[in-house]
Amino acid sequence: MSEEAPFRRLILVSNRLPFSLVEREGKIELTRSDGGLVSALQSYFSGDSGRFRFSERFWLGSADFPERRWQRFQQEGGSGEDFQILPLFIESRTYNKFYNGFSNATIWPLFHYFPGFAVYDEDTFRSYREVNELFAARIHALLEPGDVLWIHDYQLMLLPQLVREKNRNANIGFFLHIPFPSYEIFRMLHRHWKEAIIQGLLGADLIGFHTHEYVEHFLKSVRMVAGHSHHYRSIVFEDRVVKIDLFPLGIDFQKFYNSAREPAIRRLKEEIEQEFRDKKIIFSVDRLDYTKGITHRLLGFEKFLERFVEWREKVIFTIVIVPSREIISRYNERKREIEEIIGRINGQYSTLRWQPIIYRYSRLDFTELSAMYQVADIALITPLRDGMNLVAKEYVASRTQGTGVLILSELAGAANDLVEASSINPLDGTEMAVCIDQALQMPLEMQKEKMLAMQDRLRTYDVIHWVNYFLEQLSEVHSQKQGRRRKVLDDSTAVRMVREFRLAGNRAMFLDYDGTLVPFARLPQEARPTDALRELLQQLAALVNNQVIIISGRDARILSEWFGELPLTLVAEHGASIRLAGSDWEHLPDFDQTWKDNILPALQLFVERIPGSFIEEKSHTIAWHYRNVKADFGFTRSRELLDNLYQLIHNAQLQVIDGNKVIEVRMTGVDKGHAARRLVEHFRPEYILAIGDDKTDEDMFQAIGALAHTVKVGSGVTQAQFVVPSQEEVTRLLGKFVS
Ligand code: UDP
Repeated sequence: MSEEAPFRRLILVSNRLPFSLVEREGKIELTRSDGGLVSALQSYFSGDSGRFRFSERFWLGSADFPERRWQRFQQEGGSGEDFQILPLFIESRTYNKFYNGFSNATIWPLFHYFPGFAVYDEDTFRSYREVNELFAARIHALLEPGDVLWIHDYQLMLLPQLVREKNRNANIGFFLHIPFPSYEIFRMLHRHWKEAIIQGLLGADLIGFHTHEYVEHFLKSVRMVAGHSHHYRSIVFEDRVVKIDLFPLGIDFQKFYNSAREPAIRRLKEEIEQEFRDKKIIFSVDRLDYTKGITHRLLGFEKFLERFVEWREKVIFTIVIVPSREIISRYNERKREIEEIIGRINGQYSTLRWQPIIYRYSRLDFTELSAMYQVADIALITPLRDGMNLVAKEYVASRTQGTGVLILSELAGAANDLVEASSINPLDGTEMAVCIDQALQMPLEMQKEKMLAMQDRLRTYDVIHWVNYFLEQLSEVHSQKQGRRRKVLDDSTAVRMVREFRLAGNRAMFLDYDGTLVPFARLPQEARPTDALRELLQQLAALVNNQVIIISGRDARILSEWFGELPLTLVAEHGASIRLAGSDWEHLPDFDQTWKDNILPALQLFVERIPGSFIEEKSHTIAWHYRNVKADFGFTRSRELLDNLYQLIHNAQLQVIDGNKVIEVRMTGVDKGHAARRLVEHFRPEYILAIGDDKTDEDMFQAIGALAHTVKVGSGVTQAQFVVPSQEEVTRLLGKFVS
């Protein structure tokens, strides 16, 4: 079952180490935190269903124990069993500003849609960067070829790029365990913070999120903040491809499902059942956090008691709150408020025989938690926002009899995976009250039908599947990367190309103009061909049976002016007009041009608002240029225009191209691919060379790539077979064909 891994060593990185060291009877012992991630990965590597194996496994994270204790542990010969532990000891003031500051007082509230709670403090951002740099330095010292890094969560969003800067070829995966918010929220961060976060994340090869929505939000933020569009969730960034995808986190299904058979859990379950013999039990458990919707949940329950009088004395609500981040004042305020509401409800509705709410403020161990999942008739899980919410999934997995009702907030990531749950808006107390009543009355058959459907899904998409899938995607990105590295056009390949050319009968060369035959100029009209270039083209065209085709986005007028006299075939506006060597221009039959009426007003609005920008209208293309607008301003506005255009062209036969300081809209079907194919059918060459540098040339590479030698100029992802680093290399290469 296990797979030949493309990676040798696995390095997991999370803010906190999931291990601690405690001193017992004079000896230092390792304890494992019962966090979801560590137990997931532990079951992955201890069982035989994990597909990837590694020669060594490390876990790097900050330590919650003093360095001295760690040294003693090592001296006593201690080790980390499943993982080699790499603790970071971070000075406490810095750590505090990083963790309680930027991570939990800025990112956490904002990413959970509580912008009013977000603190803006440059000092804490500095510490955030500093701690990310400490991680990066440690990784740099450790990293070897063949290693793979898997970085976790919002505290380490700058880390992928920091690692990349010093280790160009590192294999880096990143997973975000909290929501990625909509751009309207994300943009509220200071400009350089959000730029740093986007850049930081794009240092990874693969970025994972829990849900489709978070992926969409992230892609939009990348487009708006950094200007990179995606193609099927891949972004080209600094010569690399970054893949973005969704990986909904699963749970260790069997652990919860099988726990019903454990004697200690069974005993506790029976005790609780005995205690509340004639009552229905509603259960909730979460960390004390304003995102969990605890006060709204209590108010909803209060409404339920008020409205559905018949359930009084027949229902108890066991609410467990796990202490969390007690140092942050928001959390303490929340605790006071929660306890006041509980006191009020119990005060108002309790009778001599019954108290509606049982409240506990502490962590449950696995036995208690599992027993509670098993006795609860209803799990009431109502976060106002939650990246995923594992408690909801664990409740479902624990219901071995198939009964029970999960009431779940539609704002939890888990709602996407648990569609059979009773879905509620956690802010609507009346809806919650009605939903509790309906759940209490739900027929057993219906409960089972829903529960079994959810269980089937959770059983298949468990945490082992999650790890497999993430690592699989990461290794796929890795092999694509390896493939691309082999592509640089070296001298011996060039010599082989020329030899094949000489042996062939009919021959054709498709040459893009701007960026391929001439370097980019500040203004389009400055990019005139030099005499040397015209001479070279003349010589190429004079070779027997060789067609030289200039295939460009420029219009027919300018191509005629520059090359009219030469025996070349000219393709203007990506194929809208073609002039065969020695003939007249042929223009494509006029398409319906009414689309321009819909697009032009949007562009004109931008021209009015952005001085220096202008519209260029060609027969089949309209372009909005912003090369004369102040760099930052032009760029930001161009992101807005792109966004507008994407909305406008929805379902139309149009394409938007995000070019170099220009945004173009054109009809689909008029592209270099179609044009090149037509000319290949016309000339029927045995040998084809195609060279180009930008997105429009990719159409050509795709259309005739199977028949041609295709060469891409410059960086970026390409379908071409070969890459040359610069425009000058093209001139050198073409020179070889005539020498
Ligand atoms: N958990 C626990 N004891 C408790 C409460 C929670 O072990 O008393 C575990 C629970 O089993 C789950 C995790 O803590 O795996 C909470 O994950 P969730 O995604 O629901 O919320 P988070 O705390 O990560 O926001």
